[in-house]
Amino acid sequence: MIFVKSLKAALNLFILILVSVLLIPVEAESQLGVRTEMRIPEIPGYITIKCDFHMHTVFSDGSVWPQVRVQEAWLEGIDAISITDHIEYLPHDDDIKTNHNRSFDLAVPAAKSSNLMLIRGTEITRDEPEAHHNALFITDANALEIEDFVECIEATAKQGAFIMWNHPGWKQPGNKSVWYDIQNEIWEKGWLHGIEVVNGGVYYPNAHKWCLEKNMTIMGTSDVHGPITMSYDFASGDHRPVTLVFAREKTEESLKEAMFDRRTVIYWKNFLIGEEKFLRPIFNSSVEIKTPEMGITGTGRAYVQIYNDSDVKYTLVLNGENEYVTLPRSITLYPGKTVMVSLRGKSESLTGLKKIILPYVVENLYVQPSEGMPVELSVDVRFQPAERR
Ligand SMILES: [Zn+2]
Ligand SMILES: [Zn+2]
Repeated sequence: MIFVKSLKAALNLFILILVSVLLIPVEAESQLGVRTEMRIPEIPGYITIKCDFHMHTVFSDGSVWPQVRVQEAWLEGIDAISITDHIEYLPHDDDIKTNHNRSFDLAVPAAKSSNLMLIRGTEITRDEPEAHHNALFITDANALEIEDFVECIEATAKQGAFIMWNHPGWKQPGNKSVWYDIQNEIWEKGWLHGIEVVNGGVYYPNAHKWCLEKNMTIMGTSDVHGPITMSYDFASGDHRPVTLVFAREKTEESLKEAMFDRRTVIYWKNFLIGEEKFLRPIFNSSVEIKTPEMGITGTGRAYVQIYNDSDVKYTLVLNGENEYVTLPRSITLYPGKTVMVSLRGKSESLTGLKKIILPYVVENLYVQPSEGMPVELSVDVRFQPAERR
């Protein structure tokens, strides 16, 4: 009977433990989303902030709630956004109260909780030739509801804003951007700081040229209106256009300073568009030659292995020749992969160690309008003559 008693006690104890375990409150933690990081190597001395400074919500002609813009950006590996609802074009104003600051305010909690930088902005909207301008780092969008365009831009500049000209070729003959007197007027007054060289799927070479000639900031944005997933084929690795801003620190102040100082590059489709001083270090840090030293016997081959540690697929086209080896006409460096490239000796009798320069143009790094960036990769090759038979 002692056995039965202790069995019963053990059972009671078990039930007690089970009940107490079930009563301990369990935190309902869950995984909320998976962010795809954009792999672009850092430039020495700067932090790369991945930005999209042009998008809409239901507070103008977009179809999503402001908080969703933050969530989409976070998932896509973006660090900073600006919601730039139109001041003057409000097709949903029967349903949504007009308050030009409201889309920003509603997105703040989501931005804070996901550690995403949210920049207060708006889109000042006129017909051509004044056209559309985004104002970033503003303090009050409601104060910019000013009828006269030049007065409006002046008030925007007085808020300390960074002002950029949007989609400059839109509604222009042949989709080609035109530098009208009005752009010149606000640029000369120091109120026009950047141009969208890329807007959504469109690249504007003229705007690229003006940015270089007139010392303006190169900008690329999505200008997304619907859900971002409906605009880009993420399944095939596509991404929205972003502006990479090279800031000294990850703060709003530092971001703004970098933009006024024109430290930007556009990452659009498979292109990087910007000044050579930024594109060259990005390319150099992306690419690693895994076989820096090789041997070739006579007219035999050596295989160079080149690794690309970035998300950009670099397309290289031969830009010259080498006196000792024949080089492939083109090389594609795939993201996160190593490619093997064949070099073939030109001479049966060459002897000794030679530095072989591989001259190429990276076609998808635009340092000038629609023009790629020349690069020189190099490897050491020890040549030895083919054996005589
Ligand atoms: Zn616009
Ligand atoms: Zn827009």
